[in-house]
Amino acid sequence: MHGDHYLGLMGLIYTMHLLKRTKDLNIYGQKGLKEIIVTQLKYSDSRLNYKINFRELQPKKSELLFEDDTLEITSFPLNHRIPCSGFLFKEKPKPLRLSKENLPENIALAHIALLKKGEDVFDEEGNLLYKNKEYTLPPRRSRSYAFCSDTLYDESIVPHIKGVDLLYHEATFLADKYPWAELTFHSTTHQAGEIAKKAEVKQLVIGHYSARYKDLTPFITETREVFENSILSVEGETISLSD
Ligand SMILES: [Zn+2]
Repeated sequence: MHGDHYLGLMGLIYTMHLLKRTKDLNIYGQKGLKEIIVTQLKYSDSRLNYKINFRELQPKKSELLFEDDTLEITSFPLNHRIPCSGFLFKEKPKPLRLSKENLPENIALAHIALLKKGEDVFDEEGNLLYKNKEYTLPPRRSRSYAFCSDTLYDESIVPHIKGVDLLYHEATFLADKYPWAELTFHSTTHQAGEIAKKAEVKQLVIGHYSARYKDLTPFITETREVFENSILSVEGETISLSD
């Protein structure tokens, strides 16, 4: 609930209203966020075109927040001066892919569905029509992304983010400011790299740089001293994860 993490939200909510959003908006936040938003809407006498569903996080434990056929999102505790949660986005296991070259042209859709589930296909008399292995390829990879900001260096985070494809971890300060990082419940470049290394993630992206720094080059240099496959987050840029 520090301002740098939610002050923009009211503007975003109102912009979506002006853009004629009608779909419900689900907001997951710490205690107090609902009160702040509702109060602002109340005193500006604003009625939105859409409904907001608030869900209060429980910052001391890991919770499943969202799940559908393709994705699940869980929260986990971070270690900051005030309650703070990290988030893990994880794709569900994907269906088998069809081997297009081997597949007969006139195959029934119901049979395709069975093949994708990993089953062999039989006719009504019980004769084998399609042996699964001959018509399918392994599924695409299930990707994962974890978001950790703001937090003190804390190894209890590691089991929650183990082996993710991409880890966002804050690095508010350069390494020499570690006493200051500890005092303000933030992390340094080396500490972000250390968490990435311990969690054996594939790639690390750092951010949440203190405004005192004008040049971000030392941030990436220092982080790579500990964890080579690291990048700087830059506002507005997109990072793709291949599947
Ligand atoms: Zn912050």
